[in-house]
Amino acid sequence: MMEAKEACGVFGVYAPARSVAHLVFDGLYALQHRGQESAGMAVSDGDAITVMKDMGLVTTVFDERKLSGLRGHLAIGHTRYSTAGSSDWVHAQPAYRGVGRAGFGLAHNGNLTNTAALVERAGMLPGLVSSDSDLVAELLAQTYPPEGVTDLLPAEEDLEQALRSVLPALEGAFSLVLMDADRIIGVRDPNGFRPLCLGRLDATDRLEQGWVLASESPALDVIGATFIRELEPGEMVVIDAKEVRSERVFPEERVDPKLCVLEFVYFARPDTRLYGTEVHGARRRMGQLLATQAPVTADLVMGVPESGVPAAEGYAVASSIPYGQGLVKNRYIGRTFIAPTQAERANGVRRKLNPLRENIRGKRLVVVDDSIVRGTTTRAMVTMLREAGAAEVHLRISSPPFRWPCFYGIDTPDRNELLAADRTIGEIAEFLDVDSLEYLTLCHLIEAIDAPGAGFCDACLTGSYPVPVPVALVERAALSGVGRGLEG
Ligand code: SF4
Repeated sequence: MMEAKEACGVFGVYAPARSVAHLVFDGLYALQHRGQESAGMAVSDGDAITVMKDMGLVTTVFDERKLSGLRGHLAIGHTRYSTAGSSDWVHAQPAYRGVGRAGFGLAHNGNLTNTAALVERAGMLPGLVSSDSDLVAELLAQTYPPEGVTDLLPAEEDLEQALRSVLPALEGAFSLVLMDADRIIGVRDPNGFRPLCLGRLDATDRLEQGWVLASESPALDVIGATFIRELEPGEMVVIDAKEVRSERVFPEERVDPKLCVLEFVYFARPDTRLYGTEVHGARRRMGQLLATQAPVTADLVMGVPESGVPAAEGYAVASSIPYGQGLVKNRYIGRTFIAPTQAERANGVRRKLNPLRENIRGKRLVVVDDSIVRGTTTRAMVTMLREAGAAEVHLRISSPPFRWPCFYGIDTPDRNELLAADRTIGEIAEFLDVDSLEYLTLCHLIEAIDAPGAGFCDACLTGSYPVPVPVALVERAALSGVGRGLEG
């Protein structure tokens, strides 16, 4: 059970004559798994930009009355997961700057690694910067609109020019969706840590063609858009009334594809396509390779709902051990139900999962899960299975051990809270009270994803960070946790 948290979903649509607010609502609803703390959207009718955002799920923040009042031809949206200590309205996105036609909105998924330098560049007081998104918006606002331009004098390409000026200064992970009065813009950082894709709404008898940007492809499917392609790392795509144009805005030497490998393991929806691969199929193959790599004699293969299930199916097929359900998940528990203390976290497992005793009793179980972070919830689950009568519990994890914190947009616990940080597999097995424990190797994980030649970030598994992380940030992560600062 992945206890690290996603950090945001972004969405944008350019679709004259359609209800863009409803389209954003549906898109964000499809991206709800990426962040459940706040939701928001900004809509332009060509004269003014209206921003609406609040704490809560997409369905809590928006209703039919609000959506009907948000009229325009383009819009962007955001759904957010915050980090500890930064859970309030001021961090909800989109960020907005400017006035009238000279305004712009910004939605961000990721985490910048050079915020100190950027805060200095912006001339802001560090304590007054509420988030990475706010910082980038401020940097853009200082460049856009240029001095002397008012809302009565629309400047055709100012937001693009501001981005060309500001983007090369950003380091770390950032998939951005921006808008001004007349266009939406998608940007992916030169490593492409977080996903971002482009889709098209086909023209009908009544409606002209529209365009969509989204963190994950199911957000296109839900509004009837056709998946066109993933944005390339380092690419900026501008969509307006004239065209869809693509531009490279980072020096070529910085472009080095490093998509987060854990998007395939856990973060992305199973029906999402990344690197041309549907995530669900990759997860099944992870289970198949895990069965080859770590076989065991057992009576039943079961997955930990829900993200462990596809790998469990794959394990069962490859091992010829029957697949069955051993745990039922309370579907009304949010995906990020994380209690603040270890004890409460363990109790939280009972709220979330309940064993199917007749399926489990007397059986030697292969229990397949996607990951172990702190291990507290996994240990509580193993106890639950043993109390339900399991004869043996063999735990198989469809990813390598999570040993290092993430600095690229995923909120992870302190390194000293990561179960595998400095423990051997035997010590972890003992802590979890399982009869055997095996993790999928990194080689097998990459083989399962089946995207030859593709580049991945695997820093939280290997400690090899593709973009340098400031020493101060690393020290803070080791001592008191990461993700307490600026994120989107
Ligand atoms: S450090 Fe881990 S979670 Fe973060 S981007 Fe890299 S692979 Fe993903």
